[in-house]
Amino acid sequence: MSAAACIFCRIIRGEIPSFKLLETEKIFAFLDIQPLSKGHCLVIPKTHGERLHDVPDDELAELLPAAKKLALATGAVDYNILQNNGSIAHQVVGHVHVHMIPKPNEKEGLTVGWPAKETDMDALKALHENIKAKM
Ligand code: AMP
Ligand code: ZN
Repeated sequence: MSAAACIFCRIIRGEIPSFKLLETEKIFAFLDIQPLSKGHCLVIPKTHGERLHDVPDDELAELLPAAKKLALATGAVDYNILQNNGSIAHQVVGHVHVHMIPKPNEKEGLTVGWPAKETDMDALKALHENIKAKM
């Protein structure tokens, strides 16, 4: 999707209203309009990129400190930081965003499926070598 049509780029440009919380040269933060819990908010880089690896490091570097500020300002004690990449990974809006989602109780906030596999040391060892060789 182009930056011209992107809903979050349009929010940054002020073409669509938002409940803005923070803005710097590199990032913008606002309340999520369909919150999972009270205080659920989003931090986005100003560069339009669909996935984490499409965004420059200097903008990525501001996302977590901003999420930390928002967690403190909302008074969240327990919370999840979430960033989805790709529709099968639950990404709906194609502009990188970090969620800060307060977890006030079992029912509200993020619920997570965690289908852990058995530990396989041989497979982990081979994978470890493979990934290291590519960095
Ligand atoms: P994701 O599934 O990670 O792509 O999450 C997209 C998030 O953006 C959802 O939590 C939506 O509620 C939120 N969202 C979509 N449109 C808007 C909007 N116009 N203002 C604020 N939040 C929005
Ligand atoms: Zn965008």
